[in-house]
Amino acid sequence: MNKKGSAVIISGPSGSGKGTTVKALLKARGSVRLSVSATTRQPRPGEEHGREYFFLSKEEFENKIKNGEMLEYAQYCDNLYGTPRDYIERCVSGGEDVILEIDVQGGMQVKNKMPDAISIFLIPPDRATIEKRLRGRGTESEEVIAQRLKKADEELEYADKYDYIVICGEIDKCVADILGIIDSKKLESANMIDYVKENF
Ligand code: 5GP
Repeated sequence: MNKKGSAVIISGPSGSGKGTTVKALLKARGSVRLSVSATTRQPRPGEEHGREYFFLSKEEFENKIKNGEMLEYAQYCDNLYGTPRDYIERCVSGGEDVILEIDVQGGMQVKNKMPDAISIFLIPPDRATIEKRLRGRGTESEEVIAQRLKKADEELEYADKYDYIVICGEIDKCVADILGIIDSKKLESANMIDYVKENF
């Protein structure tokens, strides 16, 4: 059987429902791990250091890049975001599936470095939903909302670079789709061949 876990990249425009989906996914499958990213953005109300993100100064973040501690990193709007390498590598080699909720620039970097990673692009049912979700959050200024809507259009250009596109409308359906993708990876012949050799 496959002893390795999968790194599962989940990207999609701001307002696509990534955050809600990932939370529901972790609840539905307790064995799935979540990569906690580092960022230089300010915490939103209710966010905690080490839970939603590791909130770092620009200098701290740049030191981690210099020391090779980031699997990938990218500038998104005015802030830096990055994935600590160590945790991902430990999960995958320990047989655990780990979710990386990251932007498209980061998604492309991880796919290059880890070709076996599963990449999923999450989209809301339509464009109007993006704006509705961004405003519904109630934590962003008009300026930030406008910036993120523009960014959403840029990000949508990357949809066809991902292995899968999942529509995030009804949350249970979206979670089931993603779990189905993760599970089918385990049944790929490359992952099952050792089982065949050991048992037949
Ligand atoms: P937010 O500020 O809304 O939490 O995140 C903004 C964007 O940064 C989202 O698209 C999110 O997926 C992305 N992001 C979060 N963590 C990382 C990361 O570690 N690396 C990259 N490249 N993007 C990230």
